[in-house]
Amino acid sequence: MTDANRPVRTRFAPSPTGSLHIGGLRMALWAWLFARHHGGQFILRIEDTDQKRYDPNALQTLLEALRWVGVDWDEGPEVGGPYGPYVQSERLALYQEWAKWLVDNDHAYYCYCSSERLEQVNKEKQAAGIPPGYNRRCRYASPDELAALKAEAEADGRSPVIRLKMPREGKTLFPDLVRGEVEFENESIQDAVLLKGDGFPTYHLAVVVDDHFMRISHVMRGIEWLPSAPLHMQLWKAFGWEMPQYAHLPVMLNPNGKGKISKRKPPVDAKGNVLPVMVHDYIKGGYLAPALANLLVGIGWNFGDEVEVFSMDEARERFNDFSRINPSNSAFPMEKLEWINGLYIREKMTPDALADALRAPLEAAGLNVDMETLRKVAPLVQTRIKTLNDVVDMAGFFFKPEFTPPPVEKLIQKKMDAASTKRALEACIPVIEAVDPFTADKLLGAFTELGQELGLNNSQMFGVLRVAVSGQAISTPTFETMEIVGREETLRRVRLAIGLVS
Ligand code: GLU
Repeated sequence: MTDANRPVRTRFAPSPTGSLHIGGLRMALWAWLFARHHGGQFILRIEDTDQKRYDPNALQTLLEALRWVGVDWDEGPEVGGPYGPYVQSERLALYQEWAKWLVDNDHAYYCYCSSERLEQVNKEKQAAGIPPGYNRRCRYASPDELAALKAEAEADGRSPVIRLKMPREGKTLFPDLVRGEVEFENESIQDAVLLKGDGFPTYHLAVVVDDHFMRISHVMRGIEWLPSAPLHMQLWKAFGWEMPQYAHLPVMLNPNGKGKISKRKPPVDAKGNVLPVMVHDYIKGGYLAPALANLLVGIGWNFGDEVEVFSMDEARERFNDFSRINPSNSAFPMEKLEWINGLYIREKMTPDALADALRAPLEAAGLNVDMETLRKVAPLVQTRIKTLNDVVDMAGFFFKPEFTPPPVEKLIQKKMDAASTKRALEACIPVIEAVDPFTADKLLGAFTELGQELGLNNSQMFGVLRVAVSGQAISTPTFETMEIVGREETLRRVRLAIGLVS
Protein backbone atom coordinates (compact mmCIF):
# COMPACT_ATOMS: atom_id res chain seq x y z
CA MET A 1 0.00 0.00 0.00
CA THR A 2 2.52 2.57 1.08
CA ASP A 3 6.06 2.49 -0.13
CA ALA A 4 8.21 2.55 2.99
CA ASN A 5 10.85 4.55 1.16
CA ARG A 6 8.40 7.23 0.18
CA PRO A 7 6.93 9.35 2.89
CA VAL A 8 3.20 9.73 2.46
CA ARG A 9 2.32 13.02 0.82
CA THR A 10 -1.18 13.60 -0.49
CA ARG A 11 -2.65 16.70 -1.98
CA PHE A 12 -5.91 18.45 -2.63
CA ALA A 13 -5.81 20.38 -5.85
CA PRO A 14 -8.95 22.44 -6.32
CA SER A 15 -9.63 24.96 -9.02
CA PRO A 16 -10.76 28.03 -7.13
CA THR A 17 -14.01 29.00 -8.76
CA GLY A 18 -15.92 30.00 -5.62
CA SER A 19 -16.65 28.42 -2.30
CA LEU A 20 -15.78 24.79 -1.94
CA HIS A 21 -18.22 22.20 -3.29
CA ILE A 22 -19.08 19.44 -0.79
CA GLY A 23 -17.81 16.88 -3.29
CA GLY A 24 -14.43 18.63 -3.22
CA LEU A 25 -14.47 18.80 0.54
CA ARG A 26 -15.08 15.06 0.77
CA MET A 27 -12.02 14.41 -1.44
CA ALA A 28 -9.97 16.82 0.63
CA LEU A 29 -11.02 15.14 3.85
CA TRP A 30 -10.13 11.68 2.61
CA ALA A 31 -6.71 12.78 1.33
CA TRP A 32 -6.08 14.64 4.58
CA LEU A 33 -7.13 11.70 6.76
CA PHE A 34 -4.93 9.30 4.82
CA ALA A 35 -1.90 11.60 5.12
CA ARG A 36 -2.54 12.21 8.80
CA HIS A 37 -2.98 8.50 9.49
CA HIS A 38 0.50 7.86 8.12
CA GLY A 39 2.06 10.85 9.80
CA GLY A 40 2.64 12.27 6.33
CA GLN A 41 2.02 15.62 4.71
CA PHE A 42 -1.08 17.11 3.19
CA ILE A 43 -0.51 19.67 0.48
CA LEU A 44 -2.92 22.23 -0.87
CA ARG A 45 -2.31 23.19 -4.46
CA ILE A 46 -4.36 25.71 -6.36
CA GLU A 47 -5.09 24.75 -9.94
CA ASP A 48 -5.92 28.09 -11.44
CA THR A 49 -4.63 27.70 -14.97
CA ASP A 50 -8.08 27.99 -16.44
CA GLN A 51 -7.99 31.77 -16.46
CA LYS A 52 -11.43 32.08 -17.98
CA ARG A 53 -12.93 30.82 -14.77
CA TYR A 54 -10.66 32.82 -12.50
CA ASP A 55 -12.25 34.63 -9.58
CA PRO A 56 -9.85 36.57 -7.32
CA ASN A 57 -12.01 36.18 -4.19
CA ALA A 58 -12.40 32.50 -4.70
CA LEU A 59 -9.08 31.54 -3.15
CA GLN A 60 -9.84 33.24 0.15
CA THR A 61 -13.29 31.71 0.24
CA LEU A 62 -11.82 28.30 -0.43
CA LEU A 63 -9.20 28.60 2.32
CA GLU A 64 -11.88 29.79 4.71
CA ALA A 65 -14.04 26.76 3.89
CA LEU A 66 -11.20 24.31 4.54
CA ARG A 67 -10.26 26.03 7.78
CA TRP A 68 -13.87 26.02 8.95
CA VAL A 69 -13.93 22.25 8.64
CA GLY A 70 -10.55 21.92 10.34
CA VAL A 71 -8.61 20.61 7.35
CA ASP A 72 -5.11 21.98 7.78
CA TRP A 73 -2.41 21.82 5.14
CA ASP A 74 1.33 21.46 5.74
CA GLU A 75 2.28 23.14 2.51
CA GLY A 76 0.32 25.45 0.28
CA PRO A 77 -1.03 28.97 0.07
CA GLU A 78 -0.32 31.17 3.09
CA VAL A 79 1.76 28.36 4.61
CA GLY A 80 4.49 28.03 2.01
CA GLY A 81 6.72 24.97 1.88
CA PRO A 82 9.83 23.66 0.17
CA TYR A 83 8.20 22.87 -3.19
CA GLY A 84 6.26 26.03 -3.84
CA PRO A 85 4.83 28.13 -5.20
CA TYR A 86 1.64 26.14 -4.68
CA VAL A 87 -0.46 28.15 -7.09
CA GLN A 88 -0.19 26.87 -10.64
CA SER A 89 -0.40 30.23 -12.36
CA GLU A 90 2.86 31.08 -10.59
CA ARG A 91 4.60 28.02 -12.00
CA LEU A 92 4.18 28.62 -15.73
CA ALA A 93 7.90 28.68 -16.52
CA LEU A 94 8.26 25.20 -15.08
CA TYR A 95 5.50 23.76 -17.25
CA GLN A 96 6.87 25.49 -20.33
CA GLU A 97 10.34 24.12 -19.65
CA TRP A 98 9.10 20.56 -19.29
CA ALA A 99 6.77 20.76 -22.26
CA LYS A 100 9.72 21.81 -24.34
CA TRP A 101 11.78 18.99 -22.86
CA LEU A 102 9.14 16.55 -24.07
CA VAL A 103 9.31 17.98 -27.59
CA ASP A 104 13.11 17.87 -27.57
CA ASN A 105 13.00 14.27 -26.47
CA ASP A 106 10.45 13.20 -29.06
CA HIS A 107 7.59 12.59 -26.61
CA ALA A 108 5.56 15.56 -27.76
CA TYR A 109 5.15 17.77 -30.81
CA TYR A 110 4.03 21.22 -31.87
CA CYS A 111 0.61 21.36 -33.38
CA TYR A 112 -0.29 24.33 -35.59
CA CYS A 113 -3.89 23.43 -36.31
CA SER A 114 -6.41 26.19 -35.83
CA SER A 115 -9.55 25.69 -33.77
CA GLU A 116 -11.59 25.99 -36.98
CA ARG A 117 -9.63 23.14 -38.46
CA LEU A 118 -10.11 21.00 -35.35
CA GLU A 119 -13.82 21.66 -35.52
CA GLN A 120 -13.85 20.67 -39.17
CA VAL A 121 -12.04 17.41 -38.36
CA ASN A 122 -14.59 16.63 -35.68
CA LYS A 123 -17.45 17.32 -38.04
CA GLU A 124 -16.00 15.02 -40.63
CA LYS A 125 -15.43 12.33 -38.05
CA GLN A 126 -18.94 12.71 -36.77
CA ALA A 127 -20.34 12.38 -40.27
CA ALA A 128 -18.30 9.20 -40.72
CA GLY A 129 -19.52 7.86 -37.36
CA ILE A 130 -16.04 7.96 -35.78
CA PRO A 131 -15.51 9.35 -32.26
CA PRO A 132 -14.27 12.97 -32.32
CA GLY A 133 -10.69 13.93 -31.65
CA TYR A 134 -7.58 15.31 -33.23
CA ASN A 135 -6.40 13.40 -36.29
CA ARG A 136 -2.70 13.90 -35.50
CA ARG A 137 -1.96 15.77 -38.72
CA CYS A 138 0.97 17.71 -37.23
CA ARG A 139 2.44 14.56 -35.70
CA TYR A 140 2.77 12.83 -39.05
CA ALA A 141 3.24 15.81 -41.36
CA SER A 142 6.41 15.82 -43.47
CA PRO A 143 8.95 18.54 -42.64
CA ASP A 144 7.76 20.55 -45.65
CA GLU A 145 4.11 20.28 -44.73
CA LEU A 146 4.93 21.22 -41.19
CA ALA A 147 6.88 24.28 -42.28
CA ALA A 148 3.87 25.36 -44.35
CA LEU A 149 1.47 24.82 -41.42
CA LYS A 150 3.79 26.78 -39.18
CA ALA A 151 4.02 29.67 -41.63
CA GLU A 152 0.24 29.73 -41.97
CA ALA A 153 -0.18 29.82 -38.19
CA GLU A 154 2.37 32.61 -37.88
CA ALA A 155 0.64 34.60 -40.59
CA ASP A 156 -2.60 34.25 -38.63
CA GLY A 157 -0.86 35.24 -35.41
CA ARG A 158 -1.53 31.85 -33.81
CA SER A 159 0.95 30.18 -31.46
CA PRO A 160 1.24 26.41 -31.64
CA VAL A 161 0.16 24.07 -28.87
CA ILE A 162 2.24 21.15 -27.66
CA ARG A 163 0.65 17.71 -27.84
CA LEU A 164 1.67 14.41 -26.32
CA LYS A 165 2.71 11.61 -28.64
CA MET A 166 0.53 8.91 -27.27
CA PRO A 167 1.54 5.40 -28.37
CA ARG A 168 -0.88 4.15 -31.02
CA GLU A 169 -0.62 0.49 -30.25
CA GLY A 170 -0.86 -1.79 -27.27
CA LYS A 171 -2.55 -1.28 -23.96
CA THR A 172 -1.86 0.67 -20.84
CA LEU A 173 -2.43 -1.26 -17.64
CA PHE A 174 -3.05 1.28 -14.97
CA PRO A 175 -2.65 0.24 -11.34
CA ASP A 176 -5.29 1.86 -9.16
CA LEU A 177 -5.54 1.48 -5.41
CA VAL A 178 -9.34 1.48 -5.43
CA ARG A 179 -10.03 -0.32 -8.70
CA GLY A 180 -7.16 -2.71 -9.16
CA GLU A 181 -5.56 -2.79 -12.60
CA VAL A 182 -7.54 -0.87 -15.20
CA GLU A 183 -6.90 -1.61 -18.86
CA PHE A 184 -6.94 0.95 -21.68
CA GLU A 185 -6.40 0.56 -25.41
CA ASN A 186 -3.78 3.15 -26.32
CA GLU A 187 -5.37 3.76 -29.70
CA SER A 188 -8.44 5.13 -27.93
CA ILE A 189 -6.43 7.84 -26.20
CA GLN A 190 -5.98 11.26 -27.73
CA ASP A 191 -2.75 13.10 -28.36
CA ALA A 192 -3.75 15.48 -25.62
CA VAL A 193 -2.72 19.12 -25.58
CA LEU A 194 -0.12 19.68 -22.85
CA LEU A 195 0.71 23.33 -23.35
CA LYS A 196 -1.73 25.78 -24.86
CA GLY A 197 -0.91 28.52 -27.33
CA ASP A 198 -0.97 31.13 -24.58
CA GLY A 199 1.77 29.32 -22.66
CA PHE A 200 -0.58 27.93 -20.04
CA PRO A 201 -0.42 24.21 -19.32
CA THR A 202 -3.43 21.95 -19.51
CA TYR A 203 -4.37 19.93 -16.47
CA HIS A 204 -2.54 16.89 -17.89
CA LEU A 205 0.87 18.49 -17.96
CA ALA A 206 0.51 20.59 -14.83
CA VAL A 207 -0.76 17.74 -12.69
CA VAL A 208 2.12 15.41 -13.54
CA VAL A 209 4.81 18.07 -13.24
CA ASP A 210 3.42 19.28 -9.93
CA ASP A 211 2.79 15.86 -8.44
CA HIS A 212 6.40 15.05 -9.29
CA PHE A 213 8.05 18.20 -8.00
CA MET A 214 5.83 18.27 -4.94
CA ARG A 215 6.84 14.66 -4.18
CA ILE A 216 3.28 13.42 -4.02
CA SER A 217 3.19 9.76 -3.01
CA HIS A 218 -0.54 9.10 -3.44
CA VAL A 219 -2.70 10.89 -5.95
CA MET A 220 -6.23 10.74 -4.61
CA ARG A 221 -8.68 12.26 -7.04
CA GLY A 222 -12.15 11.84 -8.50
CA ILE A 223 -13.11 8.97 -10.77
CA GLU A 224 -13.74 11.47 -13.58
CA TRP A 225 -9.97 11.58 -14.08
CA LEU A 226 -9.60 7.84 -14.62
CA PRO A 227 -9.92 8.13 -18.43
CA SER A 228 -6.93 10.51 -18.38
CA ALA A 229 -4.87 8.21 -16.19
CA PRO A 230 -3.12 6.29 -19.02
CA LEU A 231 -2.17 9.59 -20.58
CA HIS A 232 -0.67 10.71 -17.29
CA MET A 233 1.11 7.37 -16.97
CA GLN A 234 2.61 7.94 -20.39
CA LEU A 235 3.86 11.32 -19.22
CA TRP A 236 5.47 9.83 -16.11
CA LYS A 237 7.21 7.31 -18.34
CA ALA A 238 8.33 9.94 -20.82
CA PHE A 239 9.81 12.06 -18.07
CA GLY A 240 11.39 9.02 -16.46
CA TRP A 241 10.01 10.00 -13.07
CA GLU A 242 8.80 7.60 -10.41
CA MET A 243 5.03 7.48 -10.62
CA PRO A 244 3.05 7.98 -7.43
CA GLN A 245 0.31 5.54 -6.51
CA TYR A 246 -3.15 6.49 -7.71
CA ALA A 247 -6.54 6.14 -6.10
CA HIS A 248 -9.45 7.17 -8.29
CA LEU A 249 -12.18 7.86 -5.82
CA PRO A 250 -15.91 7.45 -6.28
CA VAL A 251 -17.85 10.67 -6.49
CA MET A 252 -20.93 11.74 -4.64
CA LEU A 253 -24.21 11.75 -6.52
CA ASN A 254 -27.49 13.56 -6.06
CA PRO A 255 -29.74 12.11 -3.36
CA ASN A 256 -31.74 10.31 -6.06
CA GLY A 257 -28.56 8.57 -7.20
CA LYS A 258 -28.53 10.33 -10.57
CA GLY A 259 -25.79 12.69 -11.66
CA LYS A 260 -23.27 14.75 -9.76
CA ILE A 261 -24.50 17.36 -7.32
CA SER A 262 -24.73 20.66 -9.12
CA LYS A 263 -24.46 24.02 -7.44
CA ARG A 264 -26.52 25.58 -10.21
CA LYS A 265 -29.34 23.08 -9.83
CA PRO A 266 -29.15 21.92 -6.23
CA PRO A 267 -31.21 18.87 -5.36
CA VAL A 268 -34.53 19.31 -3.57
CA ASP A 269 -36.11 16.61 -1.42
CA ALA A 270 -39.76 15.57 -1.24
CA LYS A 271 -40.44 18.15 1.47
CA GLY A 272 -39.06 20.92 -0.71
CA ASN A 273 -35.80 21.31 1.23
CA VAL A 274 -32.91 22.39 -0.95
CA LEU A 275 -29.63 20.60 -0.35
CA PRO A 276 -26.82 23.05 0.46
CA VAL A 277 -24.06 22.37 -2.05
CA MET A 278 -21.22 24.72 -1.18
CA VAL A 279 -19.44 24.71 2.17
CA HIS A 280 -20.44 28.32 2.71
CA ASP A 281 -24.10 27.35 2.42
CA TYR A 282 -23.50 25.07 5.39
CA ILE A 283 -21.79 27.81 7.36
CA LYS A 284 -24.65 30.17 6.66
CA GLY A 285 -27.22 27.43 7.14
CA GLY A 286 -26.23 26.80 10.75
CA TYR A 287 -24.55 23.44 10.28
CA LEU A 288 -21.69 22.24 12.43
CA ALA A 289 -18.36 21.57 10.77
CA PRO A 290 -17.71 18.25 12.59
CA ALA A 291 -21.19 17.01 11.65
CA LEU A 292 -20.67 17.85 7.99
CA ALA A 293 -17.18 16.31 8.00
CA ASN A 294 -18.56 13.15 9.62
CA LEU A 295 -21.35 12.84 7.09
CA LEU A 296 -19.15 13.47 4.06
CA VAL A 297 -16.31 11.18 5.10
CA GLY A 298 -18.82 8.39 5.59
CA ILE A 299 -20.33 8.67 2.11
CA GLY A 300 -18.62 5.86 0.24
CA TRP A 301 -16.14 5.11 3.03
CA ASN A 302 -17.03 2.62 5.68
CA PHE A 303 -15.86 3.36 9.19
CA GLY A 304 -16.70 -0.24 10.11
CA ASP A 305 -18.61 -1.88 12.94
CA GLU A 306 -21.76 -0.21 11.58
CA VAL A 307 -20.64 3.03 13.21
CA GLU A 308 -21.99 6.10 11.48
CA VAL A 309 -21.09 8.78 13.99
CA PHE A 310 -17.39 9.39 14.39
CA SER A 311 -14.95 12.22 14.88
CA MET A 312 -12.17 13.04 12.46
CA ASP A 313 -9.68 11.75 15.07
CA GLU A 314 -11.46 8.42 15.04
CA ALA A 315 -11.67 8.37 11.24
CA ARG A 316 -7.96 9.13 10.97
CA GLU A 317 -7.17 6.09 13.11
CA ARG A 318 -8.90 3.87 10.56
CA PHE A 319 -7.97 5.59 7.32
CA ASN A 320 -4.89 3.47 6.72
CA ASP A 321 -5.67 2.34 3.19
CA PHE A 322 -8.37 2.34 0.52
CA SER A 323 -10.02 -0.96 1.34
CA ARG A 324 -12.94 0.70 3.11
CA ILE A 325 -13.77 2.82 0.07
CA ASN A 326 -16.67 1.62 -2.00
CA PRO A 327 -15.53 1.95 -5.65
CA SER A 328 -19.09 2.79 -6.76
CA ASN A 329 -20.39 6.32 -6.60
CA SER A 330 -22.71 6.98 -3.67
CA ALA A 331 -25.82 9.10 -3.38
CA PHE A 332 -25.81 11.90 -0.84
CA PRO A 333 -28.07 10.74 2.00
CA MET A 334 -30.05 13.95 2.31
CA GLU A 335 -32.28 12.51 5.01
CA LYS A 336 -29.26 12.15 7.29
CA LEU A 337 -28.10 15.73 7.12
CA GLU A 338 -30.44 17.26 9.67
CA TRP A 339 -30.31 14.13 11.78
CA ILE A 340 -26.55 14.18 12.13
CA ASN A 341 -26.41 17.92 12.67
CA GLY A 342 -29.07 17.69 15.39
CA LEU A 343 -27.16 14.84 16.97
CA TYR A 344 -23.95 16.86 17.08
CA ILE A 345 -25.80 19.81 18.60
CA ARG A 346 -27.37 17.57 21.23
CA GLU A 347 -24.55 15.24 22.06
CA LYS A 348 -21.26 16.78 21.11
CA MET A 349 -21.53 20.31 22.43
CA THR A 350 -21.54 21.71 25.92
CA PRO A 351 -24.43 24.11 26.51
CA ASP A 352 -21.92 26.95 26.79
CA ALA A 353 -20.28 26.09 23.49
CA LEU A 354 -23.73 25.94 21.96
CA ALA A 355 -24.57 29.35 23.41
CA ASP A 356 -21.44 30.77 21.78
CA ALA A 357 -22.37 29.17 18.47
CA LEU A 358 -25.96 30.45 18.60
CA ARG A 359 -24.90 34.04 18.87
CA ALA A 360 -24.08 34.46 15.18
CA PRO A 361 -27.40 33.27 13.73
CA LEU A 362 -29.35 35.35 16.25
CA GLU A 363 -27.34 38.44 15.44
CA ALA A 364 -27.64 37.74 11.74
CA ALA A 365 -31.41 37.82 12.27
CA GLY A 366 -31.06 41.33 13.65
CA LEU A 367 -31.56 40.38 17.31
CA ASN A 368 -29.77 41.87 20.29
CA VAL A 369 -28.07 39.02 22.04
CA ASP A 370 -27.19 39.19 25.68
CA MET A 371 -25.00 36.28 26.53
CA GLU A 372 -26.32 35.80 30.03
CA THR A 373 -29.80 35.08 28.69
CA LEU A 374 -28.40 33.06 25.79
CA ARG A 375 -26.55 30.80 28.22
CA LYS A 376 -29.87 30.03 29.90
CA VAL A 377 -31.64 29.54 26.58
CA ALA A 378 -29.03 27.27 24.98
CA PRO A 379 -29.76 24.16 27.08
CA LEU A 380 -33.48 24.59 26.35
CA VAL A 381 -33.06 24.54 22.59
CA GLN A 382 -30.23 22.02 22.56
CA THR A 383 -32.45 18.97 22.15
CA ARG A 384 -34.91 20.74 19.89
CA ILE A 385 -32.98 22.34 17.06
CA LYS A 386 -31.49 20.66 14.01
CA THR A 387 -29.46 23.60 12.77
CA LEU A 388 -28.08 26.54 14.68
CA ASN A 389 -30.35 28.78 12.64
CA ASP A 390 -33.42 27.04 14.07
CA VAL A 391 -32.78 29.00 17.27
CA VAL A 392 -34.08 32.14 15.61
CA ASP A 393 -37.61 30.83 15.17
CA MET A 394 -37.65 28.88 18.37
CA ALA A 395 -36.09 31.31 20.80
CA GLY A 396 -35.46 34.59 18.99
CA PHE A 397 -38.27 36.17 21.03
CA PHE A 398 -35.97 36.31 24.07
CA PHE A 399 -33.85 38.87 22.28
CA LYS A 400 -36.39 41.11 20.64
CA PRO A 401 -36.24 44.66 21.93
CA GLU A 402 -40.06 44.70 22.08
CA PHE A 403 -42.25 41.71 22.85
CA THR A 404 -44.53 40.84 19.94
CA PRO A 405 -47.88 39.60 21.27
CA PRO A 406 -49.23 36.45 19.61
CA PRO A 407 -52.17 36.45 17.22
CA VAL A 408 -55.34 35.63 19.15
CA GLU A 409 -56.01 32.37 17.35
CA LYS A 410 -52.65 31.00 18.55
CA LEU A 411 -53.61 31.68 22.17
CA ILE A 412 -56.77 29.62 21.92
CA GLN A 413 -55.88 25.98 22.46
CA LYS A 414 -57.63 22.88 21.18
CA LYS A 415 -61.21 22.50 22.45
CA MET A 416 -61.09 25.98 24.00
CA ASP A 417 -62.58 29.30 22.97
CA ALA A 418 -61.90 32.94 23.73
CA ALA A 419 -63.94 32.87 26.91
CA SER A 420 -62.31 29.77 28.40
CA THR A 421 -58.88 31.08 27.37
CA LYS A 422 -59.58 34.36 29.11
CA ARG A 423 -60.72 32.54 32.26
CA ALA A 424 -57.60 30.39 32.24
CA LEU A 425 -55.30 33.37 31.79
CA GLU A 426 -57.03 35.32 34.54
CA ALA A 427 -56.63 32.38 36.88
CA CYS A 428 -52.91 32.36 36.08
CA ILE A 429 -52.29 35.84 37.50
CA PRO A 430 -52.51 35.05 41.23
CA VAL A 431 -50.49 31.87 40.70
CA ILE A 432 -47.71 33.77 38.92
CA GLU A 433 -47.75 36.31 41.73
CA ALA A 434 -47.55 33.64 44.41
CA VAL A 435 -45.10 31.01 43.12
CA ASP A 436 -41.96 31.21 45.15
CA PRO A 437 -39.23 30.83 44.16
CA PHE A 438 -40.10 31.68 40.58
CA THR A 439 -38.49 28.60 39.06
CA ALA A 440 -39.50 26.19 36.33
CA ASP A 441 -40.00 23.35 38.82
CA LYS A 442 -42.29 25.30 41.08
CA LEU A 443 -44.18 26.73 38.12
CA LEU A 444 -44.72 23.27 36.69
CA GLY A 445 -46.21 22.06 39.98
CA ALA A 446 -48.39 25.10 40.43
CA PHE A 447 -49.80 25.10 36.91
CA THR A 448 -50.37 21.37 36.81
CA GLU A 449 -52.57 21.92 39.84
CA LEU A 450 -54.28 24.96 38.35
CA GLY A 451 -55.04 23.05 35.17
CA GLN A 452 -56.71 20.33 37.17
CA GLU A 453 -58.79 22.89 39.03
CA LEU A 454 -59.88 24.49 35.78
CA GLY A 455 -60.59 21.18 34.09
CA LEU A 456 -57.86 21.74 31.48
CA ASN A 457 -55.35 19.16 30.40
CA ASN A 458 -51.62 19.99 30.48
CA SER A 459 -51.39 20.71 26.81
CA GLN A 460 -54.20 23.27 27.09
CA MET A 461 -52.97 24.84 30.34
CA PHE A 462 -49.29 24.94 29.42
CA GLY A 463 -50.04 25.82 25.82
CA VAL A 464 -52.01 28.93 26.60
CA LEU A 465 -49.26 30.13 28.92
CA ARG A 466 -46.49 29.32 26.48
CA VAL A 467 -48.13 31.31 23.70
CA ALA A 468 -48.92 34.18 26.05
CA VAL A 469 -45.34 34.42 27.32
CA SER A 470 -43.33 33.62 24.20
CA GLY A 471 -45.72 35.08 21.67
CA GLN A 472 -45.57 31.91 19.60
CA ALA A 473 -46.85 28.35 19.55
CA ILE A 474 -43.52 26.61 19.03
CA SER A 475 -40.93 27.79 21.48
CA THR A 476 -38.79 26.76 24.38
CA PRO A 477 -40.58 24.84 27.18
CA THR A 478 -43.20 26.89 29.01
CA PHE A 479 -41.90 27.06 32.55
CA GLU A 480 -38.21 27.44 31.75
CA THR A 481 -39.24 30.25 29.44
CA MET A 482 -41.22 31.91 32.22
CA GLU A 483 -38.31 31.57 34.62
CA ILE A 484 -35.95 33.30 32.19
CA VAL A 485 -38.48 36.00 31.31
CA GLY A 486 -39.05 36.63 35.05
CA ARG A 487 -42.12 37.18 37.17
CA GLU A 488 -42.83 40.81 36.29
CA GLU A 489 -42.50 40.43 32.56
CA THR A 490 -44.51 37.19 32.65
CA LEU A 491 -47.33 39.01 34.43
CA ARG A 492 -47.23 41.81 31.92
CA ARG A 493 -47.44 39.41 28.99
CA VAL A 494 -50.26 37.37 30.49
CA ARG A 495 -52.22 40.57 31.10
CA LEU A 496 -51.56 41.58 27.52
CA ALA A 497 -52.95 38.23 26.39
CA ILE A 498 -56.06 38.70 28.53
CA GLY A 499 -56.59 41.96 26.70
CA LEU A 500 -56.28 40.15 23.38
CA VAL A 501 -59.01 37.56 24.12
CA SER A 502 -61.37 40.01 25.84
N1 GLU B 1 -8.10 20.70 -10.36
C1 GLU B 1 -8.62 19.37 -10.49
C2 GLU B 1 -10.07 19.38 -10.05
O1 GLU B 1 -10.49 20.32 -9.42
C3 GLU B 1 -7.82 18.44 -9.62
C4 GLU B 1 -7.91 17.02 -9.88
C5 GLU B 1 -6.78 16.31 -9.15
O2 GLU B 1 -6.92 16.14 -7.94
O3 GLU B 1 -5.79 15.98 -9.77
O4 GLU B 1 -10.82 18.49 -10.36
